[in-house]
Amino acid sequence: MAPVTTTPSTPVEKYPSGSAVGQSSTRAGSRVVIIGGGPGGYEAALVAAQLGADVTLVETKGVGGSAVLTDVVPSKTLIATAEWMTLTESAGDRGIRPRGESEASYEADFATVDARVLRLAKAQSRDIHARLEREGIRIIAGTGHLEEPGAVVVDTPEGQQVRLEADVTLLATGARPRVLPTAEPDGERILTWTQLYELTEVPRRLIVVGSGVTGAEFAGAYRALGAEVVLVSSRDRVLPGEDADAADVIEGVFKRRGMHVLARSRAESVRRRGDGVQVELTDGRIVHGSHCLMAVGGVPNTEDLGLAESGVAITERGHIHVDRVSRTTVRGIYAAGDCTGVLPLASVAAMQGRIAMWHALGDAVAPLDLGQVSANVFTAPEIATVGVSEKQITSGEVPGKTVTLPLARNPRAKMLGIREGFIKIFAHHGSGAVLGGVVVAPRASELIFPITLAISNRLTVDEISNAFTVYPSLSGSIAEAGRMLHEANG
Ligand SMILES: Cc1cc2nc3c(=O)[nH]c(=O)nc-3n(C[C@H](O)[C@H](O)[C@H](O)COP(=O)(O)OP(=O)(O)OC[C@H]3O[C@@H](n4cnc5c(N)ncnc54)[C@H](O)[C@@H]3O)c2cc1C
Repeated sequence: MAPVTTTPSTPVEKYPSGSAVGQSSTRAGSRVVIIGGGPGGYEAALVAAQLGADVTLVETKGVGGSAVLTDVVPSKTLIATAEWMTLTESAGDRGIRPRGESEASYEADFATVDARVLRLAKAQSRDIHARLEREGIRIIAGTGHLEEPGAVVVDTPEGQQVRLEADVTLLATGARPRVLPTAEPDGERILTWTQLYELTEVPRRLIVVGSGVTGAEFAGAYRALGAEVVLVSSRDRVLPGEDADAADVIEGVFKRRGMHVLARSRAESVRRRGDGVQVELTDGRIVHGSHCLMAVGGVPNTEDLGLAESGVAITERGHIHVDRVSRTTVRGIYAAGDCTGVLPLASVAAMQGRIAMWHALGDAVAPLDLGQVSANVFTAPEIATVGVSEKQITSGEVPGKTVTLPLARNPRAKMLGIREGFIKIFAHHGSGAVLGGVVVAPRASELIFPITLAISNRLTVDEISNAFTVYPSLSGSIAEAGRMLHEANG
């Protein structure tokens, strides 16, 4: 079928001529086409509309993308319920006991939990859709690909093809769960994280393969929700990419809560066995369970995008090559988010998308700085990190000093019954500039912000410790860590 060509009324120069960072001659009225409506795509669309571009966003499954529909929003909503269950664990310690004879125990009603998860995800997608429309962004449901630089073709669900001409194209197609040929998900017992919310009851014995952030978050949440959980970790400890002390705390908590952690164990295959699953490890051991969650990473959605035909280079692992202002190897084509493999976080995808538009449309732009990205693992307690790691300091790669304050000494933590967790701060020797930090605590995701602000504004440990904190508060330990890193004059 011949594609329908849509051409916005404002004529514009075809490609930005300025290719230096922070320079571009394309301005208001430019035709911007964005493929993919996750955070990389929709945040870019908002910026482009604000700068006066004519913006079209093409999305296959729903605005908000995987972040909203299957990944961030559903997982964090599920974890919010798990958190309530974790709190009930220590009710006795805080002097709360069952009324009368009945035993005070709670269980998760999975039908309600999953319905809430899906309802919130859909509502969030609708909110973003409405916001984009209010800003005048055209949303086309369908699957887009590059026909050539400057032209995108969309296959719509109605079987039509729409051809869009573009001065600027942004590819923000995200990633999907990696599937191992020996562990094909069936959507019932062998699951990827996108299929979890179809369960109507708590899995009796859930085997989680993969102990990175996704695996650890789900393992912790399902354990709190009442499932027996076996976590299969190919490494010495869970969360191998995180601060070692933080990962130790989480592994200790997991074990204390009754999770079976199989370290140095690699899954060879996962098979359905009647009403359950059987996971065979590479050393021949067999683990039985009722369900298996495969959390072995993601693969970028970069096939069938017409990249090779348009000259857009990809890496060996299929990610789109981008520089720090999100340019691909082809002028006028940008890419953002998980399809670039830069750092698989919604916040990074969104920033890459915004940067792409600022650059393409000639606004002031600072290149992406990964040194300022704060990230969080939503276990209980959470692990939040920002800036350089302790390993970089102890190895001498970055000249600095470190301090660790266990939260157990913090008065507010004592009142709240928090026994695990700590605050670590890393600072530059001599100048005292804050270089990084790790927080392991309930709501570490909120507590990391002062450290992030310190890094992005080049504050010193003295500057953060001279600011007032509430007494008693967990953030008091951040100021105290700053005081401990003070270097006396002379
Ligand atoms: C379980 C889980 C939990 C996570 N939790 C967090 C968290 O708490 N915080 C955080 O920062 N990050 C989290 N992440 C990472 C985060 O989800 C991703 O980094 C983020 O979604 C990347 O955004 P994106 O815009 O690149 O892609 P996506 O959100 O994947 O969106 C891409 C969109 O592009 C669409 N698309 C693909 N191809 C086409 C095409 N050809 N035409 C049209 N549309 C197309 C897809 O349908 C999809 O909707 C989590 C990831 C997982 C797996």
